[in-house]
Amino acid sequence: MNSKEYMTQTEQNLLHTYNRFQIVLEKGDGVYLYDTDGNKYLDFASGIGVMSLGYGNTEYKEALKNQIDKLTHVSNLFYSTTVNSAAARLKKASKMDRVFFTNSGTEAIEGAIKTAKKYAYTLSGGNTDHEIIAMNKSFHGRSLGALSVTGNDHYREPFEGLIPGIKFADFNDIDSVNALVNEKTCAIILEPLQGEGGIYLASEEFMAGLKKLQQEKNILLIFDEVQCGIGRTGKMFTYQYFDIMPDIICCAKGIGNGVPVGAFAMREKVAEKSLVPGDHGTTYGGNPFVCAAVDKVLEIFERDDMLSKINETAEYFEKELDKLVLEFDVIKERRGKGLMQGLELSISPGDVIKDAMANGLIVISAEGNVLRMLPPLVIDKNNVDEMIGILRKTFEKF
Ligand SMILES: *Cc1c(COP(=O)(O)O)cnc(C)c1O
Repeated sequence: MNSKEYMTQTEQNLLHTYNRFQIVLEKGDGVYLYDTDGNKYLDFASGIGVMSLGYGNTEYKEALKNQIDKLTHVSNLFYSTTVNSAAARLKKASKMDRVFFTNSGTEAIEGAIKTAKKYAYTLSGGNTDHEIIAMNKSFHGRSLGALSVTGNDHYREPFEGLIPGIKFADFNDIDSVNALVNEKTCAIILEPLQGEGGIYLASEEFMAGLKKLQQEKNILLIFDEVQCGIGRTGKMFTYQYFDIMPDIICCAKGIGNGVPVGAFAMREKVAEKSLVPGDHGTTYGGNPFVCAAVDKVLEIFERDDMLSKINETAEYFEKELDKLVLEFDVIKERRGKGLMQGLELSISPGDVIKDAMANGLIVISAEGNVLRMLPPLVIDKNNVDEMIGILRKTFEKF
């Protein structure tokens, strides 16, 4: 079957919930992807920020193969090996005290919302009319709970009748948050670096304002680091750039390097007054197979001091992108941190992305005409040069 036929048949078999790029990917190697027609692509999307170690990392593959031979799944009714080590490493990286493994980022958000609600329920002696403040332009997932806190009317509207008591403030506008706070407010949820919404980093003042609410009003801070966590921005978690500690943190994407796994983690003070046996669960979540992946990813991060390399490459990456901004009128500005970068364009990025792809580069978009780049965290300066070369050729046409 040729690639055209393959795509046509796939469209007939799958539910039409995605407009896919017109290529059929077959294999990956390092930071490159290959399609079934033999074309090679430099991948600056990494499966939407998932393939942190790139494709085909030998040590990672061996760890997974070994685990398949031993045990893949037993359910959370039992203790199993690899889970404890993965949890211990995540605790250390996140500076949280207790971890719950999920199957996705969305489920990590669900767990975080339930934790905050249960915490407020416990502290108030059984009240359930609590409120959560979320941010406009946020993205937290597509399930009904995660959608409830996602600040994009377009995603939410057809599914309304969502969780009650959610209010939306403007990201980086602390006054808009303060205006919504009342005695019912139990939590504030945000991405320290908004991804889908257009690559917006939290400001120092905004974080300081949130910290004040956390300390003075005992409002829980839930940080969604599903996209910006696990080394993506040059620290293990983006919140670590600020003088702040979240109460609950959500991660997924880069933590498993391609196996479906996420987690929410929290401080002890939250854990001891929130979820207890019977309150929450998952059949697959944190099984020995996915935890072998998490354990290996985090082990490689620590052992190889990946953060230093990420920061070194990121500095160069930012500098080269800034040159493009000066060169081309169609690029309005660069935003982002580390290896999570966006170029805001004055045109819709669709055709730019298609042209780049035809020239062997994969990049994606975010809301607000943003060209989004989330390369594997193992890229080097040569990969940046190659990427810039292709983008330059592309932008010359727009
Ligand atoms: C991708 C993403 C999610 C949802 O994660 P899934 O694994 O797709 O369920 C939640 N929050 C943020 C910030 C994301 O980028």
